Amino acid sequence: MQNHRKPIPNPRIGALSKHFPRVHALTAGVAVFVLVLAVFIPTPEVEARRMPLPVKLSPVTGETGEAHLDTTLAPHQAVPLASAGTEALQSLSLKIRNGDTLTDLFKRAKVHASEMYHLLGSGREAKQLARLAPGEELTFLLNPEGQLQRLELHKDRLSQVRFTRTTGNTFKHTLVQREPDSHPAYRHGEISSSLFVAGSEAGLSDSLIMEMADVFSSDIDFALDIRKGDSFSIMFEEKFFDGEKIGNGPILAVSFTNQGRTYSAVRYVDNKGDANYFTPEGKSMRKAFIRTPLDIVRISSHFNPRRLHPVFKSRRPHNGTDYAAPRGTPVYATGDGRVIASSYSKANGNYIFIQHGERYVTRYLHLTKRKVKKGQRVQQRQVIGTVGSTGYATGPHLHYEFLVDGRHRNPATIVRKLPKAKSVPTSEMTRFKNQTQPLLAKLASYQGPALAKLDENNP
Ligand SMILES: [Zn+2]
Repeated sequence: MQNHRKPIPNPRIGALSKHFPRVHALTAGVAVFVLVLAVFIPTPEVEARRMPLPVKLSPVTGETGEAHLDTTLAPHQAVPLASAGTEALQSLSLKIRNGDTLTDLFKRAKVHASEMYHLLGSGREAKQLARLAPGEELTFLLNPEGQLQRLELHKDRLSQVRFTRTTGNTFKHTLVQREPDSHPAYRHGEISSSLFVAGSEAGLSDSLIMEMADVFSSDIDFALDIRKGDSFSIMFEEKFFDGEKIGNGPILAVSFTNQGRTYSAVRYVDNKGDANYFTPEGKSMRKAFIRTPLDIVRISSHFNPRRLHPVFKSRRPHNGTDYAAPRGTPVYATGDGRVIASSYSKANGNYIFIQHGERYVTRYLHLTKRKVKKGQRVQQRQVIGTVGSTGYATGPHLHYEFLVDGRHRNPATIVRKLPKAKSVPTSEMTRFKNQTQPLLAKLASYQGPALAKLDENNP
């Protein structure tokens, strides 16, 4: 039973400190509400914190169009309910279960059925009360006489509809939309065994680690280039709701130092509203080719620089890069192009060749499965097959070749010389700098104290 009576929660949420004090001011009912709703939002990183935060309420005026309603909703003011005066209201929250009707709920709340009819008769918006869904919650606010002063329909964690008694037996309707708080968060990590281990030790979710790898996917081969001592600094948005972390927003700025070379990227939302990552100078991080033709998530968890080193040195001449990876690991097209061969040979096993524009060809050998046909167009990052050991291969690996004008080239050096995706146009440069420089400055300021501290320790 989710049935309990208790005093109305203190509406002074906004008065609480921004620094997440351990104040358990929320009533049990609200806590139950939060728990109940937590089930409906996938929150892999939710911690068991239940501290009130200032929340932004953006009331949407109901059909009556009474703007003054807003004052009763502002979280920063303790405004008494319209007709409640200073009397203490009793609050009762009921979770809607399968098959519940509004009549059932009013009965359970011990509120007279006539109140329900007054409410339903109060306007079109009240009709939605007849279509309650399991998991939603109704909160009854009653005066000491047991008269309904307000009914709240909590549709989900972020939105509720309020029906507030005005005069006599009429109710007005307000939609209250709550928005999670966003705060920039900063993490720094140094790699000792793998990117994923370092990332999770630094408190990053797997999806953030992947996003970070994605940002640098044209510059760094996360399967072969990562070394012990590589490091990253990342600033991203964290989203909180009622003091509880409900998820992450995008990466705002990030830098990655690979074998002594530092790459930086910043998120920029252009004047069309599209978000992309750029270097601090405004060059796109997206390039014609990505460096790793494999799903690094699958291989990084088994990161071992030694194991990933070429193991087929005896084969001469060796014109490609070998990626040792578990059989079945997805293989990506490293750039947009057209499949010019998808076939089998005794030496190559299952192989795929892709033509990119006039000058470039990439080749993928020893696949278990081929997932594209000759003539087919493919996009960068499209899965074209899976790692195997068909042909002359002693174990599962991908043999990858990169050819320019028919000649084998080292993708590690050639990719940096290739034409880059479009940069921020000159006309938009001021806008770009205005938006991104504060983010980069903030990333630097986070990095700064840590570095200064290091210096102190090493006079
Ligand atoms: Zn090879």
